[in-house]
Amino acid sequence: MAKAATTSRKTKAAEAGSAPKRPARPAYTGQAYPITDHSFDVVIVGAGGAGLRATVGCAQAGLKTACITKVFPTRSHTVAAQGGISASLGNMGEDDWRWHMYDTVKGSDWLGDQDAIEYLVRNAPAAVYELEHWGVPFSRTEEGKIYQRPFGGMTTHFGKGTAQRTCAAADRTGHAILHTLYGQALRNDTEFFIEYFAIDLIMDDEGRCRGVVALKMDDGTIHRFRAHLVILATGGYGRAYFSATSAHTCTGDGNAMVLRAGLPLQDMEFVQFHPTGIYGSGCLITEGARGEGGYLTNSEGERFMERYAPSAKDLASRDVVSRSMTIEIREGRGVGKNKDHIYLHLDHLDPKILHERLPGISESAKIFAGVDVTKEPIPVLPTVHYNMGGIPTNYHGEVLTKHDGNPDHVVPGLMAIGEAACVSVHGANRLGSNSLIDLVVFGRAAGLRAAELVKAGDKHADLPAGSADLALTRLDRFRNARGATPTAELRLRMQRTMQSNCAVFRTGEVLEEGQKLIHEVWAGAADIGVTDRSLVWNSDLIETLEFDNLITQAVVTMEGAANRKESRGAHAREDFPERDDKEWMKHTLAWIDEDKKSVTIDYRPVHTYTMSNDIEYIEPKARVY
Ligand SMILES: Cc1cc2nc3c(=O)[nH]c(=O)nc-3n(C[C@H](O)[C@H](O)[C@H](O)COP(=O)(O)OP(=O)(O)OC[C@H]3O[C@@H](n4cnc5c(N)ncnc54)[C@H](O)[C@@H]3O)c2cc1C
Repeated sequence: MAKAATTSRKTKAAEAGSAPKRPARPAYTGQAYPITDHSFDVVIVGAGGAGLRATVGCAQAGLKTACITKVFPTRSHTVAAQGGISASLGNMGEDDWRWHMYDTVKGSDWLGDQDAIEYLVRNAPAAVYELEHWGVPFSRTEEGKIYQRPFGGMTTHFGKGTAQRTCAAADRTGHAILHTLYGQALRNDTEFFIEYFAIDLIMDDEGRCRGVVALKMDDGTIHRFRAHLVILATGGYGRAYFSATSAHTCTGDGNAMVLRAGLPLQDMEFVQFHPTGIYGSGCLITEGARGEGGYLTNSEGERFMERYAPSAKDLASRDVVSRSMTIEIREGRGVGKNKDHIYLHLDHLDPKILHERLPGISESAKIFAGVDVTKEPIPVLPTVHYNMGGIPTNYHGEVLTKHDGNPDHVVPGLMAIGEAACVSVHGANRLGSNSLIDLVVFGRAAGLRAAELVKAGDKHADLPAGSADLALTRLDRFRNARGATPTAELRLRMQRTMQSNCAVFRTGEVLEEGQKLIHEVWAGAADIGVTDRSLVWNSDLIETLEFDNLITQAVVTMEGAANRKESRGAHAREDFPERDDKEWMKHTLAWIDEDKKSVTIDYRPVHTYTMSNDIEYIEPKARVY
């Protein structure tokens, strides 16, 4: 048990070894909504890369499978992934899964669980070949092999050379993968529920997940899905911040459902800032741009990364590059009228290469910055990009909680994969191109586990009384919310607070102010006002449900950051600049109590063992690039 001393009045440390009890909820007394019932062996919430891969796996195992998604599958944020997917294929020079493992552990700043990381990197090559065979149109080398580019933090010989490990379909890799996976999912027998908004999980008194309740957005009907297994693949919550590369749909709905189910989220203080969001819009310029030879300069025209990371330079890990850029700007060497951003140069590269390998970002730079990349540098700024934290799971995708002193207690009936999950393979900082591979490796793992856990056609037990109450109470509350504060106003306050008080650099003082401000927004939600009472295509209502999901995640992110008194990966405390392995090599767990508006923080140990005997645990050391 950690000394989870905290500055917030509202945060308390958990009792030794015991998770807080799920708050008892009053029975639903609102309007009676007719409910349409469905029964499946497995229900997957989310149709991004992770959800679709799991959907294919479950269907192939003969399980009656449903996939619920709030947007059309191929509009999931995975479609926007640009740079590529990592796997030690060795197509462009030597490579080895052990080197990929070393890089991922080092990238994670030793917060990643090494058993899970071993599972990821060992299964990566097969997962990429599977995508190739399913039809992903990868870019090719002269001999016709899958093209691989260098990416930040990816090395050979345990940090000595530069690896070309990131498989790419030009700079539209996510687009290619998502469309291919959707095709595969359709080919198998799956039922899609498209533009259904999942509201809450159905949990029974024994703590087992029994299904999920959703709103069909085009006709306003309520649907209750009964399942032996629910797999959450709902993506990240980048939109808790003001400037993010993620889609507006990235609101971490699954994470928030888990919090409301009385379960913890893990390592939420670790938020990745991507070095190269386009200044102003936040639209992403892939790290592949630097992989192809692009570099950053300050107002003096200096390639400053040579000072901060003498060997990896512009291809150091993302947290390192983002911090270096922030320091340059702070010390007065930013570019532009307000000296508040940095330049990314691609103008020295052969226009043919740009056209072939980076066509999408050439277009984005033109549209969002008015820049012709063959002639001028792109104005860029570190922008929120990825959530390392999420729903704690083991490497089979099973959701974990701390229970009776056991930090790895499996929650029956519930799994999580993709950016929503914290397996944890990315630890305190994710390496670029390691998320797409995480989606397909753990999406597949979840399918395999589902096949072991569920027998096709098994009879469903009766649902607990009031199984839809949690969801209906929320829905009814927001539909009838007649307060004075519009959702958009609260959302903006939340996003600005996160952006200014929980960003690239953090201090105790700034975080303490952040705790106060973010708790005020949370409390302010009591006065929310929704103007449209309809259940059909009501964007005000949906955005309110999404805001309500975001705010609890923002709160636990801020609390986790305030509690962690060390610097590790993306969590850089100026008042605690060193990594402290003795005290802090552990995962943060955070629970909420919605009624009391309070947070409970506890910790669980990092797995300091590997999965097999083929590689030894990689001991912590200083992280330099
Ligand atoms: C611009 C950009 C570029 C990136 N480039 C790369 C890259 O090159 N390489 C790399 O490895 N990583 C990259 N990443 C990260 C990576 O793309 C994401 O982490 C990953 O795609 C997330 O996939 P996912 O399947 O977990 O979730 P998403 O793709 O975000 O999908 C979430 C799904 O959940 C559904 N959903 C959510 N809430 C609900 C709800 N309440 N009810 C019903 N359905 C719901 C959505 O409809 C959607 O289908 C990039 C990220 C961004 C933002």
